[in-house]
Amino acid sequence: MPELFIGGKWTAAIDGRVREIRCPADGALVATVDEAGPKDAAAAVNAARDAFDSGLWSAAAAAERGRLLLHVADLLERDKDALARAESLDTGKRLVESEYDMDDIARCFRYYGNLTASGAAGRVVDAGNPDVDSRVVHEPVGVCVLITPWNYPLLQTAWKVAPALGAGNTFVLKPSELTPSTAIMLMRLLAEAGLPDGVANLVLGAGPTVGAPLTVDPRVDLVSFTGGLLTGSGIMAAAAPSVKKVALELGGKNPNIVFADADFDTAVDYALLAVFLHSGQVCSAGARLLVQEELHDRFVDAVVAQAREIQLGGPFDSNARAGTLISAAHREKIEAHVAAGIAEGAVLRCGGARPDDPALQDGFYYLPTVLDECTPGMSVVTEESFGPVLTVERFRDEKEAVALANDTAYGLAGAVWSQDAGKAQRVASQLRAGTVWINDFHPYVPQAEWGGMKQSGFGRELGPAGLAEYQETKHIWRNL
Ligand code: NAD
Repeated sequence: MPELFIGGKWTAAIDGRVREIRCPADGALVATVDEAGPKDAAAAVNAARDAFDSGLWSAAAAAERGRLLLHVADLLERDKDALARAESLDTGKRLVESEYDMDDIARCFRYYGNLTASGAAGRVVDAGNPDVDSRVVHEPVGVCVLITPWNYPLLQTAWKVAPALGAGNTFVLKPSELTPSTAIMLMRLLAEAGLPDGVANLVLGAGPTVGAPLTVDPRVDLVSFTGGLLTGSGIMAAAAPSVKKVALELGGKNPNIVFADADFDTAVDYALLAVFLHSGQVCSAGARLLVQEELHDRFVDAVVAQAREIQLGGPFDSNARAGTLISAAHREKIEAHVAAGIAEGAVLRCGGARPDDPALQDGFYYLPTVLDECTPGMSVVTEESFGPVLTVERFRDEKEAVALANDTAYGLAGAVWSQDAGKAQRVASQLRAGTVWINDFHPYVPQAEWGGMKQSGFGRELGPAGLAEYQETKHIWRNL
Protein backbone atom coordinates (compact mmCIF):
# COMPACT_ATOMS: atom_id res chain seq x y z
CA MET A 1 0.00 0.00 0.00
CA PRO A 2 1.44 3.40 -0.94
CA GLU A 3 2.32 5.67 1.98
CA LEU A 4 1.73 9.24 0.84
CA PHE A 5 -1.71 10.49 1.90
CA ILE A 6 -2.97 13.26 -0.36
CA GLY A 7 -6.56 14.48 -0.74
CA GLY A 8 -7.89 11.48 1.22
CA LYS A 9 -6.13 8.91 -0.98
CA TRP A 10 -3.07 6.76 -0.40
CA THR A 11 -0.75 7.45 -3.30
CA ALA A 12 2.74 6.46 -4.42
CA ALA A 13 5.45 9.05 -5.07
CA ILE A 14 5.03 10.57 -8.55
CA ASP A 15 8.55 9.67 -9.61
CA GLY A 16 8.33 6.23 -8.00
CA ARG A 17 11.18 6.60 -5.50
CA VAL A 18 11.19 4.67 -2.25
CA ARG A 19 13.28 4.68 0.95
CA GLU A 20 14.20 1.86 3.30
CA ILE A 21 13.54 2.47 6.99
CA ARG A 22 15.92 0.51 9.23
CA CYS A 23 15.87 0.11 13.01
CA PRO A 24 18.92 1.95 14.36
CA ALA A 25 19.26 -0.58 17.19
CA ASP A 26 20.21 -3.46 14.88
CA GLY A 27 19.87 -2.36 11.25
CA ALA A 28 16.83 -4.60 10.61
CA LEU A 29 14.58 -3.50 7.75
CA VAL A 30 11.40 -1.99 9.22
CA ALA A 31 9.63 -0.81 6.06
CA THR A 32 10.09 0.47 2.54
CA VAL A 33 8.12 3.68 2.06
CA ASP A 34 7.41 6.12 -0.74
CA GLU A 35 9.86 8.99 -1.02
CA ALA A 36 8.05 12.13 -2.17
CA GLY A 37 9.49 14.90 -4.32
CA PRO A 38 8.51 18.50 -5.08
CA LYS A 39 5.57 17.44 -7.30
CA ASP A 40 4.07 15.37 -4.48
CA ALA A 41 4.57 18.33 -2.13
CA ALA A 42 2.70 20.60 -4.55
CA ALA A 43 -0.14 18.06 -4.90
CA ALA A 44 -0.46 17.86 -1.11
CA VAL A 45 -0.63 21.64 -0.78
CA ASN A 46 -3.29 21.73 -3.53
CA ALA A 47 -5.37 19.19 -1.66
CA ALA A 48 -5.01 21.05 1.64
CA ARG A 49 -5.86 24.39 -0.02
CA ASP A 50 -8.97 22.99 -1.74
CA ALA A 51 -10.12 21.33 1.47
CA PHE A 52 -9.63 24.53 3.44
CA ASP A 53 -11.44 26.66 0.90
CA SER A 54 -14.38 24.19 0.77
CA GLY A 55 -15.16 25.13 4.37
CA LEU A 56 -16.14 21.56 5.15
CA TRP A 57 -13.75 21.49 8.08
CA SER A 58 -12.63 25.09 8.50
CA ALA A 59 -16.21 26.37 8.84
CA ALA A 60 -17.51 23.38 10.80
CA ALA A 61 -18.72 24.08 14.33
CA ALA A 62 -15.88 24.05 16.84
CA ALA A 63 -17.82 21.51 18.92
CA GLU A 64 -17.88 19.15 15.92
CA ARG A 65 -14.12 19.48 15.47
CA GLY A 66 -13.65 18.89 19.17
CA ARG A 67 -15.71 15.70 19.02
CA LEU A 68 -13.54 14.36 16.21
CA LEU A 69 -10.37 15.01 18.20
CA LEU A 70 -11.84 13.13 21.16
CA HIS A 71 -12.67 10.25 18.82
CA VAL A 72 -9.05 10.26 17.58
CA ALA A 73 -7.89 10.15 21.22
CA ASP A 74 -9.98 6.99 21.70
CA LEU A 75 -8.48 5.41 18.57
CA LEU A 76 -4.95 6.30 19.71
CA GLU A 77 -5.65 4.57 23.01
CA ARG A 78 -7.07 1.55 21.22
CA ASP A 79 -3.95 1.22 19.03
CA LYS A 80 -1.33 2.38 21.49
CA ASP A 81 0.56 -0.93 21.67
CA ALA A 82 1.00 -1.12 17.90
CA LEU A 83 1.93 2.57 17.75
CA ALA A 84 4.52 2.22 20.53
CA ARG A 85 6.07 -0.79 18.82
CA ALA A 86 6.28 1.02 15.47
CA GLU A 87 7.81 4.07 17.13
CA SER A 88 10.45 1.94 18.85
CA LEU A 89 11.34 0.14 15.62
CA ASP A 90 11.83 3.43 13.76
CA THR A 91 13.75 5.23 16.50
CA GLY A 92 15.40 2.36 18.43
CA LYS A 93 13.85 3.90 21.56
CA ARG A 94 13.13 1.58 24.49
CA LEU A 95 9.57 0.29 24.25
CA VAL A 96 8.76 1.51 27.75
CA GLU A 97 9.59 5.07 26.68
CA SER A 98 7.46 4.80 23.53
CA GLU A 99 4.55 3.45 25.57
CA TYR A 100 4.81 6.44 27.86
CA ASP A 101 4.76 8.76 24.83
CA MET A 102 1.62 7.11 23.40
CA ASP A 103 -0.33 7.85 26.58
CA ASP A 104 0.76 11.47 26.37
CA ILE A 105 -0.26 11.67 22.73
CA ALA A 106 -3.81 10.52 23.44
CA ARG A 107 -3.95 13.02 26.32
CA CYS A 108 -2.88 15.80 23.94
CA PHE A 109 -5.72 15.02 21.50
CA ARG A 110 -8.15 14.81 24.41
CA TYR A 111 -6.98 18.15 25.79
CA TYR A 112 -7.45 19.96 22.48
CA GLY A 113 -10.70 18.08 21.84
CA ASN A 114 -12.08 19.69 24.98
CA LEU A 115 -10.41 23.08 24.53
CA THR A 116 -11.54 23.63 20.93
CA ALA A 117 -15.20 24.09 21.77
CA SER A 118 -14.62 26.43 24.71
CA GLY A 119 -14.37 30.07 23.74
CA ALA A 120 -15.80 29.42 20.26
CA ALA A 121 -18.36 32.23 20.68
CA GLY A 122 -15.55 34.78 20.85
CA ARG A 123 -14.96 37.56 23.38
CA VAL A 124 -17.42 40.40 23.73
CA VAL A 125 -15.62 43.73 24.07
CA ASP A 126 -17.15 46.72 25.86
CA ALA A 127 -16.91 49.34 23.11
CA GLY A 128 -18.43 52.01 25.38
CA ASN A 129 -21.41 52.34 23.05
CA PRO A 130 -24.76 50.57 23.67
CA ASP A 131 -25.51 50.62 19.95
CA VAL A 132 -22.51 48.48 19.05
CA ASP A 133 -21.77 44.77 19.34
CA SER A 134 -18.00 44.50 19.41
CA ARG A 135 -16.64 40.97 19.39
CA VAL A 136 -13.26 39.31 18.96
CA VAL A 137 -13.41 35.91 17.29
CA HIS A 138 -10.88 33.31 16.27
CA GLU A 139 -10.59 31.73 12.85
CA PRO A 140 -8.24 29.12 11.41
CA VAL A 141 -5.04 30.38 9.79
CA GLY A 142 -5.46 28.23 6.66
CA VAL A 143 -3.07 25.67 5.19
CA CYS A 144 -0.39 24.63 7.67
CA VAL A 145 2.85 22.82 6.94
CA LEU A 146 3.95 20.73 9.92
CA ILE A 147 7.57 19.55 9.92
CA THR A 148 8.75 17.20 12.67
CA PRO A 149 11.99 15.53 13.85
CA TRP A 150 12.93 11.90 14.55
CA ASN A 151 13.42 11.89 18.31
CA TYR A 152 9.76 12.00 19.38
CA PRO A 153 8.09 11.39 16.02
CA LEU A 154 4.45 10.97 16.99
CA LEU A 155 4.55 13.17 20.08
CA GLN A 156 5.91 16.18 18.18
CA THR A 157 3.36 15.48 15.45
CA ALA A 158 0.47 15.34 17.94
CA TRP A 159 1.49 18.67 19.49
CA LYS A 160 0.97 20.23 16.05
CA VAL A 161 -1.82 18.16 14.47
CA ALA A 162 -4.26 18.30 17.41
CA PRO A 163 -4.35 22.12 17.81
CA ALA A 164 -4.11 22.71 14.03
CA LEU A 165 -7.20 20.56 13.49
CA GLY A 166 -8.97 21.90 16.55
CA ALA A 167 -8.62 25.45 15.21
CA GLY A 168 -10.05 24.37 11.82
CA ASN A 169 -6.94 24.33 9.64
CA THR A 170 -5.93 21.87 6.98
CA PHE A 171 -2.36 20.63 6.88
CA VAL A 172 0.49 18.89 5.11
CA LEU A 173 2.62 16.86 7.51
CA LYS A 174 6.29 16.15 6.69
CA PRO A 175 7.78 13.88 9.36
CA SER A 176 11.47 13.07 9.58
CA GLU A 177 12.53 10.83 6.71
CA LEU A 178 14.09 8.50 9.30
CA THR A 179 10.93 7.81 11.31
CA PRO A 180 7.73 7.93 9.21
CA SER A 181 5.82 4.87 10.49
CA THR A 182 3.64 6.39 13.20
CA ALA A 183 2.76 9.39 11.00
CA ILE A 184 1.36 6.92 8.45
CA MET A 185 -0.62 5.18 11.19
CA LEU A 186 -1.96 8.51 12.47
CA MET A 187 -3.29 9.37 8.98
CA ARG A 188 -5.21 6.08 8.99
CA LEU A 189 -6.73 6.93 12.37
CA LEU A 190 -7.73 10.44 11.25
CA ALA A 191 -9.46 8.95 8.19
CA GLU A 192 -11.16 6.32 10.37
CA ALA A 193 -12.41 9.07 12.69
CA GLY A 194 -14.13 10.69 9.68
CA LEU A 195 -11.91 13.67 8.93
CA PRO A 196 -12.97 15.05 5.51
CA ASP A 197 -10.66 14.30 2.57
CA GLY A 198 -7.83 16.75 2.02
CA VAL A 199 -7.83 18.14 5.57
CA ALA A 200 -4.88 15.94 6.61
CA ASN A 201 -2.12 15.22 4.08
CA LEU A 202 1.14 13.37 4.48
CA VAL A 203 4.31 13.53 2.41
CA LEU A 204 7.42 11.54 3.27
CA GLY A 205 10.97 12.25 2.29
CA ALA A 206 14.11 14.28 2.78
CA GLY A 207 13.94 17.83 4.12
CA PRO A 208 15.68 19.65 1.25
CA THR A 209 13.69 17.70 -1.40
CA VAL A 210 10.15 17.70 -0.09
CA GLY A 211 10.23 19.90 3.02
CA ALA A 212 11.83 22.93 1.39
CA PRO A 213 9.21 23.34 -1.40
CA LEU A 214 6.48 23.28 1.24
CA THR A 215 8.07 26.17 3.12
CA VAL A 216 8.18 28.45 0.07
CA ASP A 217 4.78 27.57 -1.44
CA PRO A 218 2.67 30.77 -1.50
CA ARG A 219 -0.53 28.76 -0.94
CA VAL A 220 0.73 27.79 2.52
CA ASP A 221 -0.20 30.14 5.38
CA LEU A 222 1.81 28.78 8.30
CA VAL A 223 4.87 26.61 8.92
CA SER A 224 5.30 24.96 12.29
CA PHE A 225 8.72 23.38 12.60
CA THR A 226 10.43 21.29 15.27
CA GLY A 227 14.04 20.40 14.67
CA GLY A 228 17.57 21.76 14.63
CA LEU A 229 18.62 25.41 14.90
CA LEU A 230 20.19 25.70 11.45
CA THR A 231 17.26 24.02 9.69
CA GLY A 232 14.85 26.24 11.60
CA SER A 233 16.55 29.50 10.77
CA GLY A 234 16.72 28.42 7.11
CA ILE A 235 12.98 27.73 7.16
CA MET A 236 12.31 31.13 8.68
CA ALA A 237 14.22 32.73 5.81
CA ALA A 238 12.46 30.53 3.21
CA ALA A 239 9.04 31.51 4.59
CA ALA A 240 9.82 35.24 4.73
CA PRO A 241 9.16 36.29 1.10
CA SER A 242 5.56 35.04 1.28
CA VAL A 243 5.17 36.29 4.89
CA LYS A 244 3.97 33.00 6.31
CA LYS A 245 3.44 32.64 10.00
CA VAL A 246 6.29 30.59 11.43
CA ALA A 247 6.66 28.76 14.74
CA LEU A 248 10.02 27.22 15.62
CA GLU A 249 10.74 24.63 18.30
CA LEU A 250 14.50 24.25 18.15
CA GLY A 251 17.28 22.80 20.23
CA GLY A 252 18.47 23.29 23.77
CA LYS A 253 21.54 23.10 25.98
CA ASN A 254 19.68 22.93 29.20
CA PRO A 255 21.18 23.61 32.64
CA ASN A 256 20.49 21.37 35.61
CA ILE A 257 21.52 23.38 38.70
CA VAL A 258 22.24 21.47 41.90
CA PHE A 259 22.75 23.44 45.11
CA ALA A 260 24.57 21.95 48.10
CA ASP A 261 21.28 21.80 50.04
CA ALA A 262 19.55 19.61 47.41
CA ASP A 263 18.12 16.22 48.38
CA PHE A 264 21.26 14.32 47.37
CA ASP A 265 19.94 10.94 46.24
CA THR A 266 16.99 12.32 44.30
CA ALA A 267 19.13 14.96 42.60
CA VAL A 268 21.65 12.29 41.53
CA ASP A 269 18.92 10.03 40.11
CA TYR A 270 17.38 12.90 38.19
CA ALA A 271 20.70 14.24 36.93
CA LEU A 272 21.05 10.88 35.16
CA LEU A 273 17.45 10.79 33.93
CA ALA A 274 17.74 14.39 32.75
CA VAL A 275 20.53 13.64 30.29
CA PHE A 276 20.35 9.92 29.53
CA LEU A 277 16.62 9.58 28.80
CA HIS A 278 16.33 8.44 25.15
CA SER A 279 20.14 8.48 25.10
CA GLY A 280 20.15 12.25 25.40
CA GLN A 281 18.25 12.72 22.13
CA VAL A 282 15.79 15.01 23.85
CA CYS A 283 15.54 18.74 23.14
CA SER A 284 15.08 19.45 26.85
CA ALA A 285 17.87 17.10 28.01
CA GLY A 286 19.68 18.31 31.12
CA ALA A 287 23.02 18.23 29.35
CA ARG A 288 24.79 20.84 31.49
CA LEU A 289 25.14 19.87 35.14
CA LEU A 290 26.00 22.87 37.31
CA VAL A 291 27.01 21.77 40.81
CA GLN A 292 27.75 23.95 43.81
CA GLU A 293 31.46 23.86 44.68
CA GLU A 294 31.21 22.15 48.08
CA LEU A 295 28.99 19.34 46.70
CA HIS A 296 30.86 18.83 43.46
CA ASP A 297 33.18 15.89 44.20
CA ARG A 298 30.66 13.74 46.08
CA PHE A 299 27.87 14.49 43.61
CA VAL A 300 29.87 13.86 40.44
CA ASP A 301 31.36 10.66 41.89
CA ALA A 302 27.83 9.37 42.51
CA VAL A 303 26.62 10.36 39.02
CA VAL A 304 29.63 8.72 37.37
CA ALA A 305 29.24 5.51 39.42
CA GLN A 306 25.62 5.18 38.30
CA ALA A 307 26.32 6.20 34.69
CA ARG A 308 28.86 3.36 34.43
CA GLU A 309 26.15 0.89 35.45
CA ILE A 310 23.62 1.92 32.79
CA GLN A 311 22.91 -1.10 30.65
CA LEU A 312 22.44 -0.41 26.94
CA GLY A 313 20.13 -2.50 24.81
CA GLY A 314 17.58 -2.68 22.01
CA PRO A 315 14.00 -1.39 22.19
CA PHE A 316 12.58 -4.70 23.42
CA ASP A 317 15.32 -5.56 25.92
CA SER A 318 13.57 -5.09 29.25
CA ASN A 319 16.90 -4.95 31.13
CA ALA A 320 18.15 -2.00 29.08
CA ARG A 321 18.12 1.42 30.72
CA ALA A 322 19.28 3.28 27.60
CA GLY A 323 19.17 2.61 23.89
CA THR A 324 20.86 3.44 20.63
CA LEU A 325 21.47 6.69 18.80
CA ILE A 326 19.49 7.36 15.63
CA SER A 327 22.20 6.92 12.99
CA ALA A 328 25.87 6.37 12.25
CA ALA A 329 26.26 10.02 11.23
CA HIS A 330 24.72 11.21 14.48
CA ARG A 331 27.06 9.01 16.54
CA GLU A 332 30.06 10.34 14.63
CA LYS A 333 28.94 13.89 15.35
CA ILE A 334 28.73 13.12 19.07
CA GLU A 335 32.13 11.42 19.03
CA ALA A 336 33.67 14.50 17.44
CA HIS A 337 31.92 16.71 19.98
CA VAL A 338 33.30 14.73 22.93
CA ALA A 339 36.81 14.66 21.40
CA ALA A 340 36.70 18.45 20.98
CA GLY A 341 35.61 18.84 24.61
CA ILE A 342 38.52 16.74 25.84
CA ALA A 343 40.93 18.66 23.61
CA GLU A 344 39.63 21.89 25.16
CA GLY A 345 40.34 20.62 28.69
CA ALA A 346 37.28 18.64 29.84
CA VAL A 347 38.07 15.59 31.97
CA LEU A 348 36.49 12.35 30.76
CA ARG A 349 35.06 10.59 33.83
CA CYS A 350 33.19 7.78 32.05
CA GLY A 351 31.99 6.70 28.62
CA GLY A 352 33.46 8.56 25.65
CA ALA A 353 33.40 5.37 23.55
CA ARG A 354 31.23 2.80 21.81
CA PRO A 355 30.32 -0.22 23.95
CA ASP A 356 32.40 -3.34 23.26
CA ASP A 357 29.45 -5.73 23.85
CA PRO A 358 29.31 -7.88 20.66
CA ALA A 359 25.50 -7.95 20.88
CA LEU A 360 25.37 -4.17 20.28
CA GLN A 361 27.66 -3.94 17.28
CA ASP A 362 24.87 -3.66 14.69
CA GLY A 363 23.39 -0.58 16.37
CA PHE A 364 24.64 2.97 16.86
CA TYR A 365 25.27 2.71 20.59
CA TYR A 366 27.42 5.12 22.58
CA LEU A 367 28.26 4.84 26.27
CA PRO A 368 26.79 7.32 28.78
CA THR A 369 29.50 9.96 29.01
CA VAL A 370 30.39 12.42 31.77
CA LEU A 371 32.83 15.26 31.09
CA ASP A 372 33.95 16.99 34.27
CA GLU A 373 35.80 20.28 34.87
CA CYS A 374 34.09 21.97 31.95
CA THR A 375 34.23 25.73 31.64
CA PRO A 376 32.15 28.35 29.81
CA GLY A 377 32.93 28.73 26.13
CA MET A 378 34.03 25.14 25.49
CA SER A 379 32.26 23.88 22.37
CA VAL A 380 30.95 20.85 24.27
CA VAL A 381 29.30 23.26 26.72
CA THR A 382 27.84 25.69 24.18
CA GLU A 383 26.73 23.38 21.34
CA GLU A 384 23.90 20.87 21.52
CA SER A 385 25.29 17.29 21.57
CA PHE A 386 21.86 15.66 21.35
CA GLY A 387 23.37 12.50 22.80
CA PRO A 388 24.31 10.86 26.12
CA VAL A 389 26.89 13.48 27.04
CA LEU A 390 26.84 15.32 30.37
CA THR A 391 29.13 18.29 30.97
CA VAL A 392 29.84 19.38 34.55
CA GLU A 393 30.66 22.91 35.71
CA ARG A 394 31.10 24.22 39.26
CA PHE A 395 29.53 27.33 40.74
CA ARG A 396 30.08 29.16 44.03
CA ASP A 397 26.79 30.93 44.74
CA GLU A 398 23.32 31.70 43.46
CA LYS A 399 24.49 34.58 41.29
CA GLU A 400 27.12 32.51 39.54
CA ALA A 401 24.66 29.62 39.05
CA VAL A 402 22.24 31.91 37.23
CA ALA A 403 25.01 33.48 35.14
CA LEU A 404 26.36 30.09 34.04
CA ALA A 405 22.90 28.68 33.38
CA ASN A 406 21.99 31.62 31.14
CA ASP A 407 25.36 31.59 29.36
CA THR A 408 23.94 29.85 26.28
CA ALA A 409 22.38 30.84 22.99
CA TYR A 410 19.49 28.49 23.78
CA GLY A 411 16.59 28.91 26.20
CA LEU A 412 14.38 25.85 26.14
CA ALA A 413 14.38 24.34 29.64
CA GLY A 414 16.28 24.08 32.91
CA ALA A 415 16.03 22.77 36.46
CA VAL A 416 16.97 23.87 39.98
CA TRP A 417 17.60 21.50 42.90
CA SER A 418 17.44 22.94 46.40
CA GLN A 419 15.46 22.36 49.58
CA ASP A 420 15.32 26.12 50.10
CA ALA A 421 12.04 26.95 48.33
CA GLY A 422 12.73 30.68 48.25
CA LYS A 423 16.13 30.27 46.64
CA ALA A 424 14.86 27.72 44.11
CA GLN A 425 12.03 30.04 43.12
CA ARG A 426 14.38 33.05 42.84
CA VAL A 427 16.72 31.14 40.55
CA ALA A 428 13.85 29.70 38.48
CA SER A 429 12.49 33.17 37.83
CA GLN A 430 15.88 34.37 36.57
CA LEU A 431 16.44 31.54 34.08
CA ARG A 432 15.83 32.56 30.49
CA ALA A 433 14.05 29.35 29.45
CA GLY A 434 10.53 28.35 28.40
CA THR A 435 10.23 25.61 31.06
CA VAL A 436 11.89 25.43 34.48
CA TRP A 437 11.54 22.50 36.87
CA ILE A 438 12.19 22.81 40.60
CA ASN A 439 13.30 19.52 42.20
CA ASP A 440 12.23 17.56 39.13
CA PHE A 441 13.20 17.06 35.49
CA HIS A 442 11.25 16.42 32.27
CA PRO A 443 7.57 16.33 33.32
CA TYR A 444 5.07 18.28 31.28
CA VAL A 445 1.30 18.39 30.85
CA PRO A 446 -0.71 19.31 27.74
CA GLN A 447 -2.39 22.14 29.65
CA ALA A 448 0.91 24.05 30.05
CA GLU A 449 2.74 25.74 27.19
CA TRP A 450 6.03 24.39 25.84
CA GLY A 451 8.57 26.32 23.81
CA GLY A 452 11.80 28.21 23.74
CA MET A 453 13.31 31.59 24.39
CA LYS A 454 16.36 32.95 22.54
CA GLN A 455 17.62 30.57 19.82
CA SER A 456 15.44 27.71 21.06
CA GLY A 457 12.78 29.30 18.90
CA PHE A 458 9.51 31.15 19.24
CA GLY A 459 5.86 30.34 19.39
CA ARG A 460 4.39 27.88 21.87
CA GLU A 461 3.02 24.37 21.68
CA LEU A 462 0.53 22.86 24.14
CA GLY A 463 -1.77 24.86 26.39
CA PRO A 464 -4.13 27.59 25.15
CA ALA A 465 -1.22 29.36 23.39
CA GLY A 466 -0.60 26.16 21.41
CA LEU A 467 -4.10 26.53 19.96
CA ALA A 468 -3.69 30.27 19.41
CA GLU A 469 -0.67 29.57 17.15
CA TYR A 470 -3.12 28.10 14.65
CA GLN A 471 -5.72 30.87 14.90
CA GLU A 472 -6.21 34.26 13.35
CA THR A 473 -7.85 36.87 15.55
CA LYS A 474 -10.59 39.01 14.05
CA HIS A 475 -12.49 41.95 15.53
CA ILE A 476 -16.07 42.34 14.29
CA TRP A 477 -17.75 45.67 15.00
CA ARG A 478 -21.48 45.67 14.37
CA ASN A 479 -23.77 48.65 14.54
CA LEU A 480 -26.97 47.45 16.15
P1 NAD B 1 16.50 18.51 11.57
O1 NAD B 1 16.48 19.98 11.67
O2 NAD B 1 17.63 17.86 10.89
O3 NAD B 1 15.18 17.97 10.84
C1 NAD B 1 13.88 18.25 11.33
C2 NAD B 1 12.89 18.12 10.20
O4 NAD B 1 13.16 19.13 9.23
C3 NAD B 1 12.95 16.79 9.45
O5 NAD B 1 11.65 16.40 9.09
C4 NAD B 1 13.75 17.16 8.21
O6 NAD B 1 13.51 16.31 7.11
C5 NAD B 1 13.23 18.55 7.94
N1 NAD B 1 14.09 19.40 7.10
C6 NAD B 1 15.43 19.34 6.96
N2 NAD B 1 15.85 20.29 6.09
C7 NAD B 1 14.75 20.97 5.68
C8 NAD B 1 14.52 22.06 4.80
N3 NAD B 1 15.53 22.65 4.17
N4 NAD B 1 13.26 22.48 4.62
C9 NAD B 1 12.24 21.91 5.26
N5 NAD B 1 12.38 20.86 6.10
C10 NAD B 1 13.62 20.40 6.32
O7 NAD B 1 16.34 17.99 13.07
P2 NAD B 1 16.40 16.50 13.59
O8 NAD B 1 17.82 16.05 13.54
O9 NAD B 1 15.34 15.70 12.93
O10 NAD B 1 15.92 16.72 15.12
C11 NAD B 1 16.80 17.04 16.13
C12 NAD B 1 16.66 18.50 16.53
O11 NAD B 1 15.30 18.78 16.88
C13 NAD B 1 17.47 18.84 17.76
O12 NAD B 1 18.15 20.05 17.57
C14 NAD B 1 16.41 18.98 18.85
O13 NAD B 1 16.80 19.78 19.93
C15 NAD B 1 15.26 19.52 18.09
N6 NAD B 1 13.99 19.29 18.81
C16 NAD B 1 13.38 20.33 19.44
C17 NAD B 1 12.20 20.13 20.16
C18 NAD B 1 11.50 21.25 20.89
O14 NAD B 1 10.41 21.04 21.40
N7 NAD B 1 12.08 22.44 20.97
C19 NAD B 1 11.66 18.85 20.22
C20 NAD B 1 12.31 17.81 19.57
C21 NAD B 1 13.48 18.04 18.85
